[in-house]
Amino acid sequence: YNVPKAVNEPVKGYAPGSPEKEELLATYKAMYNSNIDVPMHINGEEVRTGNTKNITPPHDHKHVVGQYHTADKTHVDAAISTALAAREAWSSVSWMERAAIFLKAAELLAGPYRARMNAATMIAQSKNVYQAEIDAACEMIDFFRFNVEYMTDIFKDQPTSSPGVWNRVEYRPLEGFIYAISPFNFTSIAANLPASAALMGNVVVWKPSDHQAYSAQVIVDLFKEAGLPDGVINVVYGDPVMISDTVLASPDFSGLHFTGSTHVFKELWKQIGTNIHTYKTYPRIVGETGGKDFIWVHNSSNPLQVATAMTRGAFEYQGQKCSAASRSYIPASLWPEVKKHLIAQASELKMGSPEDTSNFINAVIHEGSFDKITSYIEAAKKDKDAEIIIGGNHDKSVGYFIEPTVIVSQSPKYATMTTELFGPVMTVYVYEDADWEASLKLVDESTEYGLTGAIFSTDRYIVEKASKALENAAGNFYINDKPSGAVVGQQPFGGARASGTNDKAGSAQNLLRWTSVRLIKETL
Ligand code: GLU
Repeated sequence: YNVPKAVNEPVKGYAPGSPEKEELLATYKAMYNSNIDVPMHINGEEVRTGNTKNITPPHDHKHVVGQYHTADKTHVDAAISTALAAREAWSSVSWMERAAIFLKAAELLAGPYRARMNAATMIAQSKNVYQAEIDAACEMIDFFRFNVEYMTDIFKDQPTSSPGVWNRVEYRPLEGFIYAISPFNFTSIAANLPASAALMGNVVVWKPSDHQAYSAQVIVDLFKEAGLPDGVINVVYGDPVMISDTVLASPDFSGLHFTGSTHVFKELWKQIGTNIHTYKTYPRIVGETGGKDFIWVHNSSNPLQVATAMTRGAFEYQGQKCSAASRSYIPASLWPEVKKHLIAQASELKMGSPEDTSNFINAVIHEGSFDKITSYIEAAKKDKDAEIIIGGNHDKSVGYFIEPTVIVSQSPKYATMTTELFGPVMTVYVYEDADWEASLKLVDESTEYGLTGAIFSTDRYIVEKASKALENAAGNFYINDKPSGAVVGQQPFGGARASGTNDKAGSAQNLLRWTSVRLIKETL
């Protein structure tokens, strides 16, 4: 099919004095003081219940930038019935028209929506300008464009026919509706969870993270302007347990598209199992969940390269990426050099509000998260097994700020080596060089997760050994690079084990989960 070839959206530089920087900062300022009122969206209508919660920037949590409205059960029921009512029309819209809507959304976001999407992400999710740009602008645009390409690839895949017989398959949407639950940490993932299912012809009930409501509103505006019909994606906020109970009780529930915590995903899976007799079809369950992502280093690697990967992998976006590096295994002979570079790099990371674009570190998302992360840091200060060599300070008086922190642990099973903290904390375990094979076993067996991981070596024999030893330890496996920052179209993303169903986001595999194939054999 002759659709435009997807290429990655170029990342803008936001250099001092550049037009994009001026536009972004002006937009940020205006939005910071606009007191936005974020409604829910059911059948294309804005629903305001009056049950509101404040939107506050994590880096300035006493400042209210707006409110969002929350649902009671009747709104969730309405979102479901509206989605189902929209299904007939939407599922018979040709794939080319559906593609056009998301390609147009990509164009709008590359142009007039870019500053708003980035600013909303910087304000309410506390991302610095670069982290916002690669997520809320580039990755979201890439998802829309590449998904269209993957969809056309899927449709081309047809069975063999023979003289007198024409076999063909129709890639139909699932019968029912999809439930999308998205996280706060990536605006692009939040958009992609409902959008990829909708592109394949499905209707959706979408529950964004409450902490992402500001940018979710920009996504809704974007889809509307791109021409997405009313009722195809319906948005509700509020009590996640009530919302999920209501959605999963519907006989028409036909798929879960989830990114979030391992615990919640397992609870939802159990609930789906319990309700299985009520559903008309076996629901598709697709989830990307927690991680405890590793960097394993061999003594044949370059210490500066390792330190840079640790700094960026652990501290970008305050370590709040599922893919963030949070445990490192370093050979004793290399550690002094790696440590020297790590200390030098970490001391250069400025912390503060995203509005000052020289700040690399902003705030963590909310008080609960701040308290959890800092309780582990405080415990490490007292623990004989652990030594904090970088950072360790924190302050929540204005914003939820935690210094980038590096803990060295004597034990490979120390709490911060094995628990996902979702914060700017890296724990290092130094192993004896000769024990490199045993240390690979530690990497593999220390956690239940299998999301991302990186190995460093310039020795091809070691690379191959490590790659084999860790073959199930990471769905996204990086050689001589940090384990985060997957680019759509280049590194489809997802993990196995307790990290998810590994239906790579940004791939044909993922889109295939949102289609139910009808095979037609026609005798000619
Ligand atoms: N795809 C992102 C990355 O590679 C991480 C996604 C997530 O945090 O869920 O960094």
